[in-house]
Parts: sequence; C-alpha cells; structure tokens
Amino acid sequence: MRAYYDQDADLNLIKGKKVAIVGYGSQGHAHANNLKESGVEQLRVALRPGSKTAQKAEQAGHTVVTPEEAAEWADLVMVLVPDELQVSLYTEKLAPNMKEHAAIAFAHGFNIHYRLIEPRPDLDVFMIAPKAPGHTVRNEYTRGAGTPALIAVEQNPSGQAHDVALAYAAGLGCARAGVLETTFREETETDLFGEQSVLCGGISQLVRAGYETLVEAGYQPEMAYFECLHEVKLIVDLMYEGGLRNVRYSISNTAEFGDYTRGQRVIDEGVKERMKGVLEDIQSGRFAKEWVLECQAGQPQFKAERRRWAEHEIEQVGEKLRAMMPWMKEGKLTQE
Ligand code: NAD
Ligand code: MG
Ligand code: MG
Ligand code: MG
Ligand code: MG
Ligand code: MG
Repeated sequence: MRAYYDQDADLNLIKGKKVAIVGYGSQGHAHANNLKESGVEQLRVALRPGSKTAQKAEQAGHTVVTPEEAAEWADLVMVLVPDELQVSLYTEKLAPNMKEHAAIAFAHGFNIHYRLIEPRPDLDVFMIAPKAPGHTVRNEYTRGAGTPALIAVEQNPSGQAHDVALAYAAGLGCARAGVLETTFREETETDLFGEQSVLCGGISQLVRAGYETLVEAGYQPEMAYFECLHEVKLIVDLMYEGGLRNVRYSISNTAEFGDYTRGQRVIDEGVKERMKGVLEDIQSGRFAKEWVLECQAGQPQFKAERRRWAEHEIEQVGEKLRAMMPWMKEGKLTQE
C-alpha cells in the first residue's frame, strides 16, 4: 500500500479553493477547523436553516450558509451529514445548484459504492476518510499530530481529483500520520465489516456476554463491570501501541496462558464462519438494502435496539462507578 506524507502533498491545491463543509458534527467540526487553521481561507459551513449547531460553528468563526447557497458558491463540497441523509441532500440541494466542474467529496464510500448517489458526470468525486472519530481528528491536529486517512477517487473529469484529495487530507493533518490510497468499494466494505463484526457489533456482544455470565453466576455487578468492560480500554491501549504481542508481554503469564487456552473456546472457528456471512451481506449489498429500507420506515428496529441496550443493567452499574472516578470525565467525548 502506497502511503503519502506532507512532502507529497501540495497544500496550495486546497488553499486556492472555495470549500464548503456540509454538516458540523463529529467529522464536520474537525474538517472545518483543521482546514481553516491550515490556511483554507475561503471556507463555509453549510447547515439546515435554524440548525442548533449553527451557533457552535459561528462561535468558532465560520460563515454558516444553507446547503443550497454552499453548493452554488463552492469549488469543493465535502458531505459530512449522516450517511442516511446524504441521498436527499445531494438530489434536492446539491446536484441542482453545484457549479459545473466542481468537486464533491465524502468521508465514507457507502452512498457512492452502493449507487444510492450517482453524481453528475462533470463533477470530480473523491473521498477523504480519516481513520478516527472526528474528535480525535481535531485533537490530534491541535497538538501538532494527525490521524491516518484513506483517499479514493471515483470520478475524475478534471484529472486533478487525486492531488486535491491528498491536499485536503494534508489540510486535515492526516498527511502527518500517513495517507493511504484505496477505492470506494474497499473502504466501504472493510469499514462496514470492521464495525459490524469487531469494533462495534463484536465487542458490544462480547462485553455483554462476559458481564452477564459473571452476574448470573452470583458475582457482584460492579466486579463484572470492571473485569468485562472497564479494563477493555487498558488492553486496547496496549494493542494500539504494539499489537497483540505487546498485550501478551504486559499481562501476567497466568493471563497469557488463559488467553491461549480459553480464548479459542469462546471465539472459535464458527465465529469466523459467521463473519464470512456478515461479509457476504456487505458484498452483495444486502446489508445496505436493509439499512436503506429501515431508514425509509422511520428506523423502528434501530430505535428499539437503541432503547433495549440503553436499559441494560451494565449501563446503570457503569454510570454509578464512573461517577466515583471523576477524573475520567477529563477529555471525555460528551454526548451533546
Ligand atoms: P454527525 O451525525 O456527527 O453530524 C452530522 C451533521 O450534519 C450535524 O451537524 C447535523 O446538524 C448536520 N446535518 C444533518 N442533516 C443535514 C442536512 N440535511 N443539511 C445540512 N446539515 C445536516 O455525522 P458524522 O458521524 O460526522 O458523519 C459524517 C460522515 O462522516 C458520514 O459519512 C460518516 O460515515 C463519516 N465518518 C464519520 C466518522 C466519525 O467519526 N463519526 C469517521 C469516519 C467517517
Ligand atoms: Mg452517532
Ligand atoms: Mg470505520
Ligand atoms: Mg463506518
Ligand atoms: Mg484482571
Ligand atoms: Mg507477560
């Protein structure tokens, strides 16, 4: 895989452009603020009229406009609204107003890869996808570092899409850490697979099952919470710094022996078989179709699951325990 760094990017390619950031959430606030501090002077944030977030963006010194106004004005429109709202945003607000030969960019390939959005042929279409939550993209930039990012080009009538995407990534601070080249297909499918089977779906179920096993066996819920949820971070930090080997180096020999002999009893080959099924749903478009239909129906299953998980005892126990550890609040990603 080819990695690009600051010396490979020409920041002037993005500094010279009128850049509109649509959405000011997790990614949006990071993109707008990082690009501005990197010298992109002609920058506007686009939000729906009356949006509560507009105040936050204005307080940070941004000019806030509507998506239609942004589309008419911009050379480059970065779409950072939730994936499930992008189709109507593009068809109703952006496509009818964007200048001829402008560029449209995304931070995730979902809508382009599954052809839910089919951009006008005159537009450059590319992706800059930081491999981190927006708050990390912002915090790393502020301390002079960066998060890695992926770039990909889908449509390139100008012939400049790749270089502009790389310049944009550099403006986000991502070229300090490394920018990797991929395709919309690869980014979309690996992103969905990772979050469904390991990062979000996998770990939530693992934590829940471990917690319930201990509590059902009569152990105190607080003990179960510490062992099966709280300590996950300590292990993941070691993993992040030096891989699985670093975890094994740091844990006791007793823990390491249990890891080798019991881990595969819990996560056996059947798990991998089922992961292949999850991947097939992604590759075939079955998952995408299900999510689109769920959204069209007003997200009934999605909302019910959210409620069910929020009511799980592990959340109440966690809230109580975290209140006893006030230092954890520092630097916390608050839910606003
Ligand atoms: P978010 O939910 O945090 O923020 C969405 C923003 O869009 C909000 O400011 C909201 O007010 C605004 N918005 C909603 N509808 C709008 C409309 N019709 N017009 C204008 N503004 C509107 O979203 P997010 O998590 O930052 O995700 C944005 C994109 O970034 C998605 O494509 C996502 O897949 C991608 N992404 C997100 C992360 C992440 O860290 N959350 C990481 C990588 C990629
Ligand atoms: Mg969210
Ligand atoms: Mg991801
Ligand atoms: Mg994702
Ligand atoms: Mg322990
Ligand atoms: Mg050891």
